[in-house]
Amino acid sequence: MLIRFTNSLGRKKEVFEPLEKGRVKIYSCGPTVYASPHIGNFRAFIFADLLSRSFEFWGYEVENVMNVTDVGHLTSDSDSGEDKLEKSAAKEKVSPLEIARKYEKEFLVDLDKLNIKKPKYLPRASEHITEQVELIKKLAEQGFTYETSDGIYFDTGKFKNYGELSGQKAEEKEAGARVAVKSEKNNPADFALWKFCVGENANHILRWDIATGKDLSDQQPATSNQQLAGFPGWHLECSAMSLKYLAPEILQTTNYKLPAAIDIHTGGVDHIPVHHENEIAQSEAATGKKFVNFWLHNEFLTVDGGKMSKSLGNLFTLADLERKRIEPLAFRYFCLNSNYRGKLNFTFEALENAQSSLKKLRNEFQKAGPKGKVDQKAVDQFSEALADDLNSPRALAAAWEYARSPKANQATFNKFDEVLGLDLAHQENNEVKITPELQKLLDERAAARAAKDFKKSDELRDQIFKLGFDIEDTADGNQLLKNRA
Ligand code: AMP
Ligand code: ZN
Repeated sequence: MLIRFTNSLGRKKEVFEPLEKGRVKIYSCGPTVYASPHIGNFRAFIFADLLSRSFEFWGYEVENVMNVTDVGHLTSDSDSGEDKLEKSAAKEKVSPLEIARKYEKEFLVDLDKLNIKKPKYLPRASEHITEQVELIKKLAEQGFTYETSDGIYFDTGKFKNYGELSGQKAEEKEAGARVAVKSEKNNPADFALWKFCVGENANHILRWDIATGKDLSDQQPATSNQQLAGFPGWHLECSAMSLKYLAPEILQTTNYKLPAAIDIHTGGVDHIPVHHENEIAQSEAATGKKFVNFWLHNEFLTVDGGKMSKSLGNLFTLADLERKRIEPLAFRYFCLNSNYRGKLNFTFEALENAQSSLKKLRNEFQKAGPKGKVDQKAVDQFSEALADDLNSPRALAAAWEYARSPKANQATFNKFDEVLGLDLAHQENNEVKITPELQKLLDERAAARAAKDFKKSDELRDQIFKLGFDIEDTADGNQLLKNRA
């Protein structure tokens, strides 16, 4: 069976061959942990999970990495503006690392709820400063860097393939770039490898000495002899950490033999023109080797046709769905039921439909006999759909077709679920055990309702929901409890 993916590099569907037999090395751009992750972000992570699970299904050993950005991601793509984490920290009046850990935790909890398997490595940018500084040194030795008053920059004019991924030539970028302020950059597309703690980042809390890699964050306020204090540019972490975890030899030896450093790199389409172009430039300039064989990009989750994003404020989180009694896995079903390369428009109605389909598929699982061997023909059909550019809607349709066959058995469903990750064996349990804590909340809510204090009654409903129960108010004033799906 041939595996084919649409490679953003070249924009063609190509047959996939791994760099090493039986293994696949995948790098996925992860979250910037400055706010609660939204379901648009999770579309990207469900896609990366679908990819890894498919390779496991095909018998590959999967080496996968997802970075956690906790420093250096500025509010503007053109290397200006504040660090998103530091801005959020100032707003919430806590330290940047407290912000980072808080939202990383939320991200991990949500990964779990969505049955997204944790990647083998989940490195944090702030814990890989030495590796990033090493990479800057390598680039400097080869003449790819220059210094301005606010940082060390990569000279894209010296990297001949710059713009290949997005198909934009450097000159076009130049013509298209809106250079609002007079810049010290050699070319508009040049980007920061390292930012000095000066100007709008003078009070940047996380800071290191680039010469020694020493952490200077606890030496606040900064002293005048801290001229070299700074922090890495956002793009650099992905090059440094992907190479460290997936191709360390490429940095250590001069006779690296494989044709590229890693097999597959994923991310949302928004990353193509800047972030991924820059990752390629840094990695290839530093190693002299091809960085990535296959670039796979997911399209956006949209709202009213526009991108769901933190900056537009049109986002929803898993918690918002749960409040509407929609299970996180219904969102997973919703994503799998559409191809990763097409835009997917979010509405609650569409999610409710996904929820209902998921329940029906689980019903089919219960109806199928527990006995019987895995149906190889059905599994092959399912597998071929995935091998065709991860056609998950077709794979789901194959599972539905199998559900309708009179001989359907659970062993085969379980096989599908290794990739789908929809908890098909899940059974709704409506037996409710009332603990004293639950009883207390129910009594308080009944009193609040009697007093027509609906705000309090809703708050109590949310607390009851957190304990794992849905509540329904009956006409005679009773509260009917159901276990949450
Ligand atoms: P960020 O936390 O902004 O660095 O983004 C993490 C990942 O989510 C990246 O791969 C983005 O491309 C992706 N992403 C952000 N917004 C959306 C969206 N609305 N739909 C799909 N992917 C998205
Ligand atoms: Zn990245």
